Amino acid sequence: MNVFSDPAFDNHEQVVFAHDARTGLKAIIAVHNTRLGPSLGGCRMWPYASEADAIHDVLRLSRGMTYKSAMARLPLGGGKSVILGDPRSQKTPELFRAMGRAVEQIGGRYIVAEDVGTSPDDMHNIARQTSHVGGINDGSDPTRTGDPSPFTAYGVFIGLKEAVRFKNGHDDLGGLRVAVQGLGNVGYHLCRLLHDAGARLVVADLNANIVDRAVRELGASAVSVDEILSVDADILAPCALGGVINDRSIKTLRARIIAGAANNQLESDRHGQMLLERGILYAPDYVINAGGVVEVYYGREGKPVSDTNKHIEGIADTTREIFKRAAAENLPTGFVADRIAEERFAPR
Ligand code: NAD
Repeated sequence: MNVFSDPAFDNHEQVVFAHDARTGLKAIIAVHNTRLGPSLGGCRMWPYASEADAIHDVLRLSRGMTYKSAMARLPLGGGKSVILGDPRSQKTPELFRAMGRAVEQIGGRYIVAEDVGTSPDDMHNIARQTSHVGGINDGSDPTRTGDPSPFTAYGVFIGLKEAVRFKNGHDDLGGLRVAVQGLGNVGYHLCRLLHDAGARLVVADLNANIVDRAVRELGASAVSVDEILSVDADILAPCALGGVINDRSIKTLRARIIAGAANNQLESDRHGQMLLERGILYAPDYVINAGGVVEVYYGREGKPVSDTNKHIEGIADTTREIFKRAAAENLPTGFVADRIAEERFAPR
């Protein structure tokens, strides 16, 4: 089990192993970079197959948050935490209070929020021990539900429209076919926005009920989960899983634009190069799915939702800058995005 020699280790500032014998807490908190501000990132609870897997995940995810917040022009760095355990059977309020104490000990260099396997209730338990927690809805602002997904969807919508503008010279979605993979919290909100803008939806999800709802409410056409990536569409919006753009799927893609919410859509960097060679415009995932983290930040600052939305609309400028630089230098958009992020957070 290695930290410094793990392939995901990237000059992380601090990696803390937290243990609490009474509650059984085993957690790792990784602070990747705080040059732009305190690191912020979700707390994932997952039954990792090994401690090495947990270390790798927290190193990888915390680094990703540095890039995401830098690209979103937030005064935040990147961090993440993982709790080793099964969220279905091993959660207790005491466990999360112990996690809160561990976060408190980092002294504000890490701000925790919800992630896969953790819930608003868990964040409330963490908040009993530390103020360094985001995404808490205390009910003081009725326009805030505490759910970042609609904000994530709004940012994806903004980025997707910018991609259409770059390809077509205008951002009118009227009549364009958009294939949406995954109709969860983000995907369904995105479908609503696309529908309202006049797009025609083609959708797939493992959950047949949600697909039926999209057909009924939004006039979507349903296809199977095996077909969605290769369906005849102008735009593909992956909103389910990572790694969907890979050697197999790239051969059959028919969309000319990829713009969706899922994290780590490209299985590896070389798939960005393959998309470039095929003339498919890829809106880098972490750039356009940053709406949720923007809302967590503004919620913590006590600023109104209108400020969140205004900030999210800035995703258009960032996306355009990436597309322009990528086109001028004939480079993959993901590569250019990383370079711009690094210019922002790396020590000068
Ligand atoms: P979610 O769990 O609510 O929804 C995911 C949906 O995808 C589910 O309905 C699931 O049934 C479906 N799905 C799973 N496998 C599928 C497959 N093979 N084909 C089609 N559908 C499939 O998750 P979410 O919160 O909507 O997030 C979606 C993606 O966006 C995730 O990758 C997440 O990491 C990313 N993301 C979410 C947020 C946010 O604010 N929620 C922010 C940034 C990134």
